[in-house]
Amino acid sequence: STPFGIDFGNYSSVIGVARNRGIDVVVNEVSNRATPSLVGFGVKNRYLGEAARSNEISNLKNTVGSLKRILGRKSDDPALEIEKKFITSELVDVEGLAGVKVRFQGEQKTFNSIQLAAMYLNKLKHITTTEIKGNVSDVVIAVPVWYSEVQRRAAADAAIIAGLNPVRIVNDLTAAAVGYGVFKNSELPEDKPRNVAIVDFGHASYSVSIAAFKKGELKILATAYNRDFGGRDVDLAIANHFGKIFQEKYKIDIHSNPKAFSRVLTQAERLKKILSANTSAPFNIESLMNDIDVSASMTREELEEYIQPFLAQIPEPIERALKDAKLTPADLDSIEVIGGSSRIPSVKEKLVEVFGGKSLSFTLNQDEAVARGAAFICAIHSPTVRVRPFKFEDLNIYSVTYSWEKVEGEDVNELEVFPAGGWFPNSKVITLFRTADFDLEARYTHPETLEKGINAWIGKWAVKGVKPSENGEAVAVKVKLRQDPSGFYTVESAYTAEERTVEEEIPFEGELKEGEEAPEPQYKTVKKWFKKDDLTIVHTHTGLDDAAQAKLLEIESQLTSEDKLVADTEDRKNALEEYIYDIRGKIDDLYKDFASDDEKARLREKADAAEEWLYGDGDDATKAQYIAKYEELASIGNVIRGRYLSKIEEERQAKQAAQEA
Ligand code: ATP
Ligand code: MG
Repeated sequence: STPFGIDFGNYSSVIGVARNRGIDVVVNEVSNRATPSLVGFGVKNRYLGEAARSNEISNLKNTVGSLKRILGRKSDDPALEIEKKFITSELVDVEGLAGVKVRFQGEQKTFNSIQLAAMYLNKLKHITTTEIKGNVSDVVIAVPVWYSEVQRRAAADAAIIAGLNPVRIVNDLTAAAVGYGVFKNSELPEDKPRNVAIVDFGHASYSVSIAAFKKGELKILATAYNRDFGGRDVDLAIANHFGKIFQEKYKIDIHSNPKAFSRVLTQAERLKKILSANTSAPFNIESLMNDIDVSASMTREELEEYIQPFLAQIPEPIERALKDAKLTPADLDSIEVIGGSSRIPSVKEKLVEVFGGKSLSFTLNQDEAVARGAAFICAIHSPTVRVRPFKFEDLNIYSVTYSWEKVEGEDVNELEVFPAGGWFPNSKVITLFRTADFDLEARYTHPETLEKGINAWIGKWAVKGVKPSENGEAVAVKVKLRQDPSGFYTVESAYTAEERTVEEEIPFEGELKEGEEAPEPQYKTVKKWFKKDDLTIVHTHTGLDDAAQAKLLEIESQLTSEDKLVADTEDRKNALEEYIYDIRGKIDDLYKDFASDDEKARLREKADAAEEWLYGDGDDATKAQYIAKYEELASIGNVIRGRYLSKIEEERQAKQAAQEA
C-alpha cells in the first residue's frame, strides 16, 4: 500500500501521498487539493466532503462540521459551548461522548464524534485510492499540538474505524517542520543549528513552533498556541457586523433564522478572502429572509478595524514560544508562515511587528506543508517506500506522572516520568520490588494546564505474573515506561530481574610492544541485573476497546456499502436514461438502414414505456430494476448495433483490400 498523510483541518483537509520518489498532493473528485471537513446526512445516503459542502445550506441540521474540535470530547466538555456557535446540527450525548443527532435515511440517528471523524477519514481514504488507483492502509494523521492523549487516541480510533492503520499521530507543526527540513536538507548546517519559527493560522486555531534544524534532523524547541483563534472567528465577526446592519436597514434578524445566518457566514468568509486581495468588496445576498435581497459592502480598512481584537491576540503565543526556546527574534534564521488565515494582510503585518520587523517567509506551501510532512513521515515508517530518513524530536507540552500502589518500605509512589519541555519518543526504566501483581497508572501532572473538560487520567496497566522469591521476598520488577512516537503514554514491557554478583574482565588499556604478550586478564566484581521472566501487561486506556472498535468498524463499512449502493443505483438510472435518448436518436439516424420497421416500432415502444416508467414508478427503483430495464432495451438495440458494426467492418476491410491490391 502507498503511505500517505492527512492534515486533518477544521475547515478542510489535505492529503499527501509518498510516491514517484516524492510527495504529491491528492486531488478530490472535483479536482480540489483540499476537501471540506464536513459530514452530511441525507434521505438515502451520507454526503461526505465536497457533497456535504454543496448540500450544506439546504441541509444545515444534518451537516456536521468542527469534526476535529469535537473529536474525543465528553458530551459535557465546556469547549463544546464554543463549537455550538459554528455547528449547525444538534450536539448530544452519545454514551458519554460528544455526538450529534441527525435525520438520516428517514430516521433520527445519533453518531459519536469518533464515528463522525471516521466517516470523514474514510471519505479521504476513498479519494486517495481513486486518485492513485491503488491501495492505502498506513497513514500518518496530523493533529494540533494541544491534542491530549484522549484526543490522539480518538483520532487513531477514527482512522482504524475508517479501515486505516494509523502508524503515527503527529503534531501538525512538527509535520510541517519535517517537510521544511527534508526540502531544505542540502543547505542545513552540520554544526550550529538553524532556528526556524513556523506559524500556522488556520480556521479554528493558531499555533507556533520553533525548531532547530541540522542536516538530517530537527528538534522542536518550543510550541505555543491559542486554541480558539482562527479564520472562523473573523468570519463570525463579519457576519455579526452585517447582522446588525441588516437589522437596521431591512428590519430582519438573521440570528433568528439559522439558514439565513449560515448564508451570511458563508458570504462573510468569501468577503474576507476577497479583501485579502482587494481594498473593498460588495456583500450581496438574494432573498436572504422574508424575500428580502440584502446589499452592503466592506472595505479592507473596516475589516481591519473589526479584527483588531483578534490581531491583539497574535503576540502572546509567539512571545511565549520565543521565551521557552530562550531565543529572540534576532536568533531566528527564518519565519515560515502557513495556514489559510495568514493570507490576511493585517495578520501578516502584525506578525512582522511581533517578530521585530523581520520579514516573513513563505517557502512552504501554505496549504499543503502539513500534509506533505505527514506523508513523508508515513514513508519513513513504511517498509515499501525508501526515503532518506529525517530524524525529529518532538516536544512535550504537558507533564506526565506515573504512579503505583505503595507497598511497605517504599517512600514514593509516583514519578514525573515525562516532564513538559522534554522530548519524545522517549522511555525510562524504573525498578519496583513486589511480591505480587500490581497496577501502574499515568495521568497529567497538572490537570489545570489541560483544557477544562479533558480527562487528566491517561491509563492503567495491570502487571501480571509476579511471584515472590523462594524465600517469600519481593522480587525486582523492571518496568519500561514509554512515550511512543504518536505521543501515547504506555508501559512497553515489564519483567522480573535478578541482581547477581559477577566477575567482569577489566579491559586491558596499555600498549603492547612487538613480541610482548598480553598480561593475564584482570577481573573485578560487579553487580548486574539479569532479566528473568517477562510479565504480562493488561492495558486500560482512554481509547475504544477492541469490541467497541470492531462494532463501529462494522457500522462504518455497512454505511459505506449503503452509500455505494445508492451511488451505483444512481449510475444505473442515469445509464438507462441516457440509453433511451441515445437509441431513440440512432434508430432514426445511424441505425436506420439496419433495423426493420417492426424492430424500430418495438424499440420505440419499449423506449417510450421505459421513459414513462422512469419518470413515474421507476423514479426510485432498485439498481437491479434499472439494470433489467436497460437490458430489455439493449437486447434489441444491440442486435441492430451489431449489424451496423459488421457493415462498418466490412467496409473497412474492403477499403484495406483495395489499398493493398
Ligand atoms: P485548522 O488548522 O484551524 O484546523 P484548517 O487547517 O482547515 O483549520 P486552513 O486551511 O489553514 O485551516 O485555513 C482555512 C482558513 O483560511 C479559513 O478560515 C479560510 O477562510 C481562510 N482563508 C483562506 N484563504 C484566505 C484568504 N485569501 N484570505 C483570508 N483568509 C483566507
Ligand atoms: Mg490547519
